[in-house]
Amino acid sequence: MRRLRNVKIVATLGPSSSDYETIRGLFEAGADVFRLNMSHGTQDEQRARYDIIRKVEEDLGRPIAVLADLQGPKLRVGTFADDEAELVEGASFRLDLSDTPGSQERVCLPHPEIFAALEAGSSLLVNDGKIRLKVEECGEDFANCTVIVGGTISNRKGVNVPDVVLPLAALSPKDKKDLEFACQLGVDWLALSFVQRAEDVLEAKALAQGRAAVLSKIEKPAAVRCYEEILEVSDGIMVARGDLGVELPVQNVPPIQKKLVRKARAAAKPVIVATQMLESMIESPVPTRAEVSDVATAIYEGADAVMLSAESAAGRYPIEAVQTMNNVAEQVEGDYTYREVISASRSSTVRRQTIADGIVAAAREIAETTEIAAICCYSQTGTSVRLVARERPNVPIVAMSPITKTLRQICLTWGAHATRCDEVGRFKMAVVNAARAAREFGFADVSDQILVVAGVPFNVQGTTNILRVAPCDERLIFRTDPE
Ligand code: PEP
Repeated sequence: MRRLRNVKIVATLGPSSSDYETIRGLFEAGADVFRLNMSHGTQDEQRARYDIIRKVEEDLGRPIAVLADLQGPKLRVGTFADDEAELVEGASFRLDLSDTPGSQERVCLPHPEIFAALEAGSSLLVNDGKIRLKVEECGEDFANCTVIVGGTISNRKGVNVPDVVLPLAALSPKDKKDLEFACQLGVDWLALSFVQRAEDVLEAKALAQGRAAVLSKIEKPAAVRCYEEILEVSDGIMVARGDLGVELPVQNVPPIQKKLVRKARAAAKPVIVATQMLESMIESPVPTRAEVSDVATAIYEGADAVMLSAESAAGRYPIEAVQTMNNVAEQVEGDYTYREVISASRSSTVRRQTIADGIVAAAREIAETTEIAAICCYSQTGTSVRLVARERPNVPIVAMSPITKTLRQICLTWGAHATRCDEVGRFKMAVVNAARAAREFGFADVSDQILVVAGVPFNVQGTTNILRVAPCDERLIFRTDPE
């Protein structure tokens, strides 16, 4: 089974997509990565979904990536005497640490760390940004605010503090438990919420100990500001537009998306564009034209993956939503302007420093100027595959590895068709096996030529140093290639 597109599809699993038939249906419709959202459901429910994914993987003989998305700390107000209160624009409203039930005048905000970070002039957003407060005066246990945008505030509504870096770790005690649970389960990727600084990512990586790659969700203005440092230590990026659009004016999100995608691509790290991509398909079997255009834009930008959240987790049409993304991707990538845009946006900021950088650039150049059917890339950790993908070549990438975790993680990388190979011992067999894989998955015919990217000594990480233009006809390889 091969995809006829390069961009990958991430589908979140939930109540609408928890049985074998649906999860298999989602994969067959085009989902490459399944997201387990640790904000919802129990660990037992996530384990059951995980087991089904692995069963589908076994039954269909194709690697599938599983991404566990950690909730992150949730900041919430306390409760109200009448369960809710009406805040009127221009009125005063106080937040404090007292657990007396709230009113129209005040409510508890049981987070001393927020008070420690606030300053006069800071904004506080409540209930997904629907209510906006401005801090006039604050101390270590209170903030007196003016209501800038009013509305109904009710028990335990979420609070965002966009302007300040909070003295809070990205991993709450629940997240730490979920991280350990997910690693023991065997997930391939962890998505980290509430990232504010590079240290947050390093903490998660220290806990994951290489058992899963760590992807940073960029959802806070602080993370946008120090994006380069976060990118440097992350294995991948998610443009988490839901929270970004709460903490920043929504019109800021598209240019930020462009910047995050471009820089992640230049760093050869997979980047997912997430949230509300086909939102109306939660209830409707067809998307709006604007949603289709949003998915198309992310693909033209060169994102590695586009993501479905509630559409596949809790919507009425999970499989149709994946089919829609798949159809949009095939249509966009088949358009001649796609290739032009993707090539033109190949970043001039890519620093070519290593032999591997030179080899992947040469591979793309040869594929563009010669009749090449596929680039077959041997990889231990997936790094050389991601470097090839960074070039966004105009031919399929056959990513070959003997390591299951690598094959699964590569499912998130643009254009990479992951396929298992035996440990390679000899040069000639490496070329023969690459040609066989390219033919087996329909990427090449016996009369075609392929490119083989590999490293000698074989099976050693970080040795990419070979680029071979090879025939797909094994008899020719046996005749010409050294042992
Ligand atoms: C988002 O904010 O866009 C996102 C993907 O995160 P969550 O699912 O935690 O809202």
